[in-house]
Amino acid sequence: MGLTKRHKHGLFWFRRDLRTRDNVGFTRAMTSCEMVTCVFIFDTEILDKLTNKEDKRVVYIHRSLQEVDHFLQRMHSKLLVRIGNPRALISEIVTELNVDAVFTNEDYEPFAKARDQLVAQKLQEKGRLFFSFKDQVIFAKDEIRNGQGKPYKVFTPYKNKWISMLTPRMIRDMTFQHYNFTPYEKIKPLIKPWRLKDIGFEDSELMVEAGQDAAEARLASFAKNLDLYQQQRDFPAIEEGTSGLSVCLRFGTVSIRDCTRLAKSSRSKGAQTWLSELIWRDFYHMILDQFPHVATHPFNEKYDGMVWPGTQAHFKRWCQGMTGVPIVDAAMRCLNQTGWMHNRLRMIVAMFLTKDLLCDYRWGEAYFAEKLLDFDLAANNGGWQWSASTGCDAQPYFRVFNPYTQSEKFDAQGDFIRRYCVELMHFPNKYIHHPAAAPLAIQKTSDCIVGKDYPAPIVDHSMQRKLAIDLFKI
Ligand SMILES: Cc1cc2nc3c(=O)[nH]c(=O)nc-3n(C[C@H](O)[C@H](O)[C@H](O)COP(=O)(O)OP(=O)(O)OC[C@H]3O[C@@H](n4cnc5c(N)ncnc54)[C@H](O)[C@@H]3O)c2cc1C
Repeated sequence: MGLTKRHKHGLFWFRRDLRTRDNVGFTRAMTSCEMVTCVFIFDTEILDKLTNKEDKRVVYIHRSLQEVDHFLQRMHSKLLVRIGNPRALISEIVTELNVDAVFTNEDYEPFAKARDQLVAQKLQEKGRLFFSFKDQVIFAKDEIRNGQGKPYKVFTPYKNKWISMLTPRMIRDMTFQHYNFTPYEKIKPLIKPWRLKDIGFEDSELMVEAGQDAAEARLASFAKNLDLYQQQRDFPAIEEGTSGLSVCLRFGTVSIRDCTRLAKSSRSKGAQTWLSELIWRDFYHMILDQFPHVATHPFNEKYDGMVWPGTQAHFKRWCQGMTGVPIVDAAMRCLNQTGWMHNRLRMIVAMFLTKDLLCDYRWGEAYFAEKLLDFDLAANNGGWQWSASTGCDAQPYFRVFNPYTQSEKFDAQGDFIRRYCVELMHFPNKYIHHPAAAPLAIQKTSDCIVGKDYPAPIVDHSMQRKLAIDLFKI
């Protein structure tokens, strides 16, 4: 609607797509408007909820925006950054700059959908247009449907359909280089400072470099390991066993089409498995969009009224990495220190919180939301509901991970455990997964007495497993 008409002045609104290459909405703005101004809004409704004023996500966004701004400056323009409520600010900027149409990329979170609807409505009242494009995923909303025309609830048939529907056109590079940005002089009066302190935040150390250049470099580096992905992806001690791109995909410093092109570039098992992970990402975005109740309730309504008997005291020990189960503790300490956790460990700690400590999955989900640099509502919710057996195509409730055997299998030498549970550094491999089982003499020679230097397990796995299975028999 209206896209064939060339607009005089367009506004491109960056959100979770912080890149200037291979960005659908950005390219569409450029191809449909004579002149394009770029804007980013630090939404105070979101920022005010962040209690840690050194939040790494804000730092990542800020640094990525600096890169976008440098690019625009090289093109004799500038990025407009505002702090406040986008509903009011977009409308204000549109009036101030006499913009005809606003361009952006779709966001499928319930909060974002409601916000965009209000923005579009406000613009319509002013006689201005609002266009939003699919950019964040390959297939959105209900584009993939089952034989009854309904959205899938099970992953494998969804994945098969996804693969059968994918065409090269869908993943073509959308980079467009005939830039027509609004000249700096024209937007100069609207420019306001946007240092981190202006937003109310402080700088913090990041484990990943922000921005599109770094994200693309990471993708290129991962390309060398792609064929090994299947063999390496489950072992947290292997440094580049997985791509480490989740932060980049979350903030859109890398394009999902670019990732999919890489996955399709090889026929190896590694490449196929990696493609599957990208499809899981689409799947969970679709689930959140089509079944928005999952944001606050179990996907499987059967578990809606379930009372989780887990205690706050146990939850606290889990958060601190003090459960007495080394693989769980190392994973939680890694999350607390770096803002990241390996996928295998996310499954282990989520399963431990829900099936061993019997705590409501929403406690863990909220803790991850606070800590994860790559926090994404759709993927996080999907991962938690999968582990808690409350979700779509979730792990069956009677299949409970044993954290000790998971540890022996995926961190056999205890390398990952020793990295974060330094008090266990000198424990022999035989006991590193279960130090409480070590004879006292071994504990003494390892410089670590269980119950004193490292906690004894706060629960007994085999007993808790039985309780969990009973709890789920509704
Ligand atoms: C309890 C739990 C919570 C999770 N929370 C998040 C979250 O908040 N944000 C997030 O991006 N991922 C989340 N995941 C999925 C997964 O753990 C991470 O995407 C992955 O660990 C990121 O590492 P990577 O980039 O090296 O992934 P790779 O293995 O290289 O995979 C490539 C990309 O595929 C996507 N992906 C991979 N696995 C999944 C999956 N199971 N579900 C959805 N997308 C996937 C990610 O975008 C990832 O970057 C969660 C998983 C669990 C079990």
